Amino acid sequence: MTSFDGELAHIAAQMKKTMQEVNGVGLSANQVGFDKALFIVKLSDETYVFVNPELTPLSNETNKTEEGCLSIPGVWVDVERYLKVRLSAKNLEGETIELELEGHPARVIQHEVDHLAGVLIIDRIGPDERRRIADQLEEIKNKAS
Ligand code: ZN
Repeated sequence: MTSFDGELAHIAAQMKKTMQEVNGVGLSANQVGFDKALFIVKLSDETYVFVNPELTPLSNETNKTEEGCLSIPGVWVDVERYLKVRLSAKNLEGETIELELEGHPARVIQHEVDHLAGVLIIDRIGPDERRRIADQLEEIKNKAS
């Protein structure tokens, strides 16, 4: 169970700072070493915190657009996402939030929910796209080790 306490608020505040520093639009807790089901996103200049998120596609309609990720800087790949989703989550006070999102916000949310499940954009691409960025991925791997 998540406790909606000062620690959680502190983590969210730190994550906001980190996201601002790198000028990102989303950051999940496990990207920055916190073992919490929490992510933050910037939607129309406002930063939101979502805890224990659950995502439901609202239709089978998808589209493909280029996405990047702070965890693999410089890599941009076409990722297929649902166009419309419903997000159920809690805010930092433990209150339930229900949102229906479409287009870019829906994409950002799916990206972050993926992170919490350990899924990256490079796990969502086909073999052609993977070959195209193979050198880039190799470079990143070498830098990290
Ligand atoms: Zn990411």
